[in-house]
Amino acid sequence: MLMERISNALAIVRRLEQEGYEAAIVGGAVRDLFLGRAELSDVDVATSAGLEAIRSLWGGRVKVTRKGPPWTAVIPMDGFNVEVTPFLGETLEEDLKRRDFTVNALAMKADGKVMDVVNGVKDLSRRVLRFNGEAAVRIREDPLRALRLARFAAVLPAFVVDEASLSAAHGWQDAMSWMPQERIGKEVLCAMRGDAVRFTAFLKELGLVKTLLPGLSSETEARLAYAHAATDRAEVKAACLLDGMARARIREAQGSAAFEGCLGRRIAKAADQIMSAWAWPHKLADHIAMLVKWQEVAHSDPSPWVFLQLLKSFGRSWLDDLFLLAWADAMADGEDLSAWARNRITAVYLEVSTPQPLLSGEDVMEVLGIGEGPEVGKILEAVEKAQAEGKICTREDALRLVNALYKGPSYQDG
Ligand code: ATP
Ligand code: MG
Repeated sequence: MLMERISNALAIVRRLEQEGYEAAIVGGAVRDLFLGRAELSDVDVATSAGLEAIRSLWGGRVKVTRKGPPWTAVIPMDGFNVEVTPFLGETLEEDLKRRDFTVNALAMKADGKVMDVVNGVKDLSRRVLRFNGEAAVRIREDPLRALRLARFAAVLPAFVVDEASLSAAHGWQDAMSWMPQERIGKEVLCAMRGDAVRFTAFLKELGLVKTLLPGLSSETEARLAYAHAATDRAEVKAACLLDGMARARIREAQGSAAFEGCLGRRIAKAADQIMSAWAWPHKLADHIAMLVKWQEVAHSDPSPWVFLQLLKSFGRSWLDDLFLLAWADAMADGEDLSAWARNRITAVYLEVSTPQPLLSGEDVMEVLGIGEGPEVGKILEAVEKAQAEGKICTREDALRLVNALYKGPSYQDG
């Protein structure tokens, strides 16, 4: 798949070269190809061409996501994007020298040849994460690179961090507090896809936790460790992190009265605010906010109907994530897992046998002799609930229930 993406991007590079520009694939795609990593991400292309040239070559397909300078032009392909940016500097060689890490500073030309001006291949082979050039200078140019160091340490398997790079990345907490939240959010999200525990360990070592992940407590770290051990799902790891940060935020704003009433909803709201500042995709942020909101249900004693509603509203993989999150939570807190296990079985059962509705809206209207309206939905919901709770099994049972509960003067007058 990565190979496919690379060859599509190479076609763009080739076209730019035909027009007389210099161009190459740069960044993570070349690195990942070398490492044999199958992770799929967008492919970056750097070029000497201007934005107008890109527009005239690919016309309406081009989306300019940053007007710049430097601009970014996105060319959507089948299932991924090629992100075209102008060279940092005048030439490809200058561009590569300005990139953050040696392993991120390789380029692939249209003929497939790899250009390596900073010994990136050597560091890739030895699996060393090292700032490109003078570490202290590179980090001063852009302190976000300290965070990127922790992020790449988390996502690049079996890499060690070069000593000089690590020590240059210390002491940037004040500069980091001025950093746009979207830039921080992008790196945090990438890190959640990798070894989230290693990520937070590096941030701690670099003194960046308070600034970047305020509220990250040892409890949250313990949950994250269990979540990371149990799953690759970034959603679950991110939910652990956001839950901890959101609770800390509420506590700070409201003191000891913070944890009274509607807690799940408030934590979800605070988590959502953080993710929205980080500019995380809405769909992902909703998924995580709902995990945070509903996590307690996996440890309590709800009707199976609650799980059926959750399954219907958020889908199967969300429900699986919910149980992973709740499991990590219970393990870290040393809680009893019996309620969790009982609920898990209920959910598994629902997942494999989502029941067919026993009645339709038309059935209800006919039996009760009523017209369309919200009442019909309410009655169907009651039937579904009784079915999920095992009180009724057949269509006949359902009709009997509707007749018993909803037919007759007392109900219809009320
Ligand atoms: P991923 O596969 O996770 O996207 P990536 O290496 O492509 O990893 P990006 O954040 O997409 O990471 O950045 C693309 C490339 O742009 C990097 O490989 C690096 O060469 C360069 N780059 C990005 N951010 C910086 C920065 N702050 N300073 C210097 N170079 C950077
Ligand atoms: Mg990338």
